[in-house]
Amino acid sequence: MRPIEIPARRGAAVPLKKDQRIKVINTHGGQVVDMWCFLPDGSEHLSMPHSVVTLGRIKPLPGDKLYSQLRKPLLVLEDDHSPGTHCMLFAACDIERYKLLGCIEYHDNCADNLREAMNSLDIIPSYIPTPLNLFMNTKFHQHQEMVIEAPEAKAGDFITFRALQDCVMAFSACPQDLVPVNAHGCTPQSVEYQVLD
Ligand SMILES: [Zn+2]
Repeated sequence: MRPIEIPARRGAAVPLKKDQRIKVINTHGGQVVDMWCFLPDGSEHLSMPHSVVTLGRIKPLPGDKLYSQLRKPLLVLEDDHSPGTHCMLFAACDIERYKLLGCIEYHDNCADNLREAMNSLDIIPSYIPTPLNLFMNTKFHQHQEMVIEAPEAKAGDFITFRALQDCVMAFSACPQDLVPVNAHGCTPQSVEYQVLD
């Protein structure tokens, strides 16, 4: 399959068969991509807390398996051609987050992007799991303070996962433009994904 663009501020979902691989490309660099994975019936989803416990760290590395809330391995991270600063700890941005940041009007958000993308496949998530925030540059100091800096991923950087079960992958090109989650002066950019057979 050729690469598919996820427009800036939008989401996408795509089914994967067991052993298919998917590449997520930071087309312009500096863009955070929220990523989820569900079993096709929606009963299990990729769980960051369960994955963190199993891995014993908060940044996944090539070779790491990522787990569901029932501790079933769903994905393996195969290749990471980026600085590797992905975030496993942050909730997806949602309408309430933008209200807290002072938005009065509706603001595009990753939670709604996930709902819309999954609804297009007739899957209704019962809630919004914590995503794997690809390329998100969170840093922690002395296990207490946390800072968010713009992603260090360069244009064309990518990360590749292999499905360990039949599943549905979902992505959101994070529309955050109020705090420096994204680079380019907090300007959300398009990204791409590519299913590799
Ligand atoms: Zn977001």
